[in-house]
Amino acid sequence: MTTDLSGIYDLMRTKPNRWEKNLLEKAYQVAKDAHEPQKRSSGEPYFNHVFATARNLAEFGLDATTIAAGFLHDVIEDTPVTEEEIKEQFGDEIVFLVNGVTKLGKLKYRGRERHVESLRKFFIATAEDFRVVIIKLADRLHNVQTLEFVKPEKRKRIALETIEIYAPLAYRLGMGRLVGELQDASFPFAYPDEYEMVASLLRQKKKLNEKYLEKVWRNLKTEMAKHGIKDITTHQRVKGRYSLWKKLQRKNMDIEQIYDIVALRVIVPTVDDCYRVLGIIHSTWRPLPGRIKDYIALPKVNGYQSLHTTIFTGDGGIAEIQIRTPEMHEFAEYGFAAHHVYKSRGSTVADKHSLSWLSELKNLQEDSDQKKDFLKELKTDLFSDRIFVFTPQGDVLDLPEGASAIDFAYTIHSEIGNAAQAATINGKNAALKTVLHSGDIVEIQTNKKGTPSSKWLGYVKTGIAKKHIERYLKEHSLWNKFFNK
Ligand code: MN
Repeated sequence: MTTDLSGIYDLMRTKPNRWEKNLLEKAYQVAKDAHEPQKRSSGEPYFNHVFATARNLAEFGLDATTIAAGFLHDVIEDTPVTEEEIKEQFGDEIVFLVNGVTKLGKLKYRGRERHVESLRKFFIATAEDFRVVIIKLADRLHNVQTLEFVKPEKRKRIALETIEIYAPLAYRLGMGRLVGELQDASFPFAYPDEYEMVASLLRQKKKLNEKYLEKVWRNLKTEMAKHGIKDITTHQRVKGRYSLWKKLQRKNMDIEQIYDIVALRVIVPTVDDCYRVLGIIHSTWRPLPGRIKDYIALPKVNGYQSLHTTIFTGDGGIAEIQIRTPEMHEFAEYGFAAHHVYKSRGSTVADKHSLSWLSELKNLQEDSDQKKDFLKELKTDLFSDRIFVFTPQGDVLDLPEGASAIDFAYTIHSEIGNAAQAATINGKNAALKTVLHSGDIVEIQTNKKGTPSSKWLGYVKTGIAKKHIERYLKEHSLWNKFFNK
């Protein structure tokens, strides 16, 4: 692996200026010296890992400050270099990013299905700044790409955690390429048998699909030239193995029902061209009904835009074609982080739809007041007044603001709710009606003879607690009536 800074400069979307080069050179050197004696489990120098993290950030389209933080992301945690030293040399912003990454590193996936969504949300809430999440993703990408060198028990946990927590976060940020890379690197370690099955199916099918597409592409090229559409780029995109497996599960494992194992991607300069190309395709081949998707007019929630259609190729084949502009392509691959790149070209649709929250990310770095407001808005938006509390085992529960220990008990299990007697919050005894706050560690004491009280209805915020209390009271009062008669 070459660890040459010029490779990073080349990946950056705008050529680094003198100040940015100085910053990156300094971060590079400090990280190199600090990690000097350390080795990865692969036997490589540890510095290779932080270099890869920084390089990933450059590839995702992040700025010099974030790339520098990428170089330094393990320095405070894993080397004798202190927070104060980093602060002195690099300032508050970089220390803030590095500390954020360290904090996130302490969250562990415990494989409990129902807590996964809470953990994802908690992850974002903890990060405070999306650049922290993106650094963590860049770090994780290199970690899963080197999983073969990690001990088997640990390997599986990291692979599952990546699939359950990190890949969905990357998806939400619109980082399509990263989603695929994280999933496909983790898949063989998370689900080895399924991986083998999918890999062999893919080998059989891929060739055939490619053959159909090649013919389609030749005809399409002629037709587009006739219609005067210029500056076309095209490539075949092969579906990721993990994504293919998920789709197979939805289609009863019937590979014949999956038409986008290999898809043809057509990239044309304008939105207008996209619709014209779709028209040409539909007048040349018959489209499959119900498979025409206009994600330009109706983008996916994460901002993804393209036109998709599936056609009968005429020789027994079926093929999917995806049509998009270069702006949409950049966005589909790298998401919000790299979004600013095309701004100067006055793009239309992609810009309008770049969910303001991350397109503003860039501006935030300049204005800290604006930053605070923005983060506040973002959090109310994403978490609409949620709090995150923990069980003593470290599982995260996601509750509405104002929720009490009673809500907590019912969220864990209705029987725990019904038998709840008292609570311990952060190690101190507390009444069940106590309102919880984010970060509280809550434990419930139960008593088999305990029963819910009608007063509890005034202390709960969650529908689940209300429902169980009401049900219990109803059953209980019927029971009483029966015996009193
Ligand atoms: Mn790391």
